Amino acid sequence: MSIESCKETCSVCGTNLKSVRITFTQIIGDKVYIIEDVPAQVCPHCGEEYLPPSTVDAIQEAIENGRVTKTVQVPVYDLSLVPLHS
Ligand SMILES: [Zn+2]
Repeated sequence: MSIESCKETCSVCGTNLKSVRITFTQIIGDKVYIIEDVPAQVCPHCGEEYLPPSTVDAIQEAIENGRVTKTVQVPVYDLSLVPLHS
């Protein structure tokens, strides 16, 4: 994810970006915050996501002072316990 304002093309691959609503996940310490309905621009080719600084500020505001709309359980996995197939 990149923080850049008003982009029209992807800086990774140059494809025209699409304005979409995404679900943004932020992990702070051992807490997971999920923010739904975040306006973002996403590259349909490589999947890179771009958020304007104002949106990032709004996300921080939501985490600090916003109303919790729901709480979900998040499963956690440890990859050292999973056999890797090479
Ligand atoms: Zn791209």
